[in-house]
Amino acid sequence: MMKENTILIVEDEPTIAETIKMYLLKEGFNVEITGNGNDAIKIFDAVRHVLVLLDLNLPGEDGIKVCRNFRSRSSVPIIMVTARDEEEDKLIGLETGADDYITKPFSIRELVARVKVLLRRAWSPQMKQDRLMVDDIVIERKSMRIWEKGNEIKLTPTEFKLLEVLMENAGQVLTRDQIIEAIYGYSYEGYDRTLDSHVKNIRSKLEENPQKPRYILTVKGVGYQFKRLGL
Ligand code: CA
Repeated sequence: MMKENTILIVEDEPTIAETIKMYLLKEGFNVEITGNGNDAIKIFDAVRHVLVLLDLNLPGEDGIKVCRNFRSRSSVPIIMVTARDEEEDKLIGLETGADDYITKPFSIRELVARVKVLLRRAWSPQMKQDRLMVDDIVIERKSMRIWEKGNEIKLTPTEFKLLEVLMENAGQVLTRDQIIEAIYGYSYEGYDRTLDSHVKNIRSKLEENPQKPRYILTVKGVGYQFKRLGL
């Protein structure tokens, strides 16, 4: 899925919002503005918005509540904008899941520079979204946690990595070599058997009936496939 290039500005002071918008447009971004916390929650779209600039003091839900809401839905990069230069506010902002904060009055150049840094960090291929969800399974990469229909499943680090690779390529058949290379970074002679036993272990923890797996399918003579629902 292609990410759109739209930055969401949540800011109730129109002059500030418009000034930021002008500079971001020059940098080639699309910009959407809302001046109200409740509206921000309504229009936020985890796919369309690549970054959020979020004012702390807003009519409607305040910046902290909006930030928590976005964080519960997405790992979108968030920069908190605060008018008060109080340590406490900064801390609250970061604890709520903001990635960075900037204090008013700020230089637009600095803001744009920070936007670019965050975007590079967040969307570079090696820094993927923390949460990956396919079918009834959710994984969190940083904490290496997994849930199946909301129930947490415990996997070993290798099993986790294996499941992650399969889920990232859901719907596609991966050869044993491709899987082994994705896990270890190089192919590994004679690893096939170990791979099969890892798959067996994952199935025993994840599948209701490991003999008739619903998620990880064996493709005879080739490898494995994480099945996408409806395919
Ligand atoms: Ca404000």
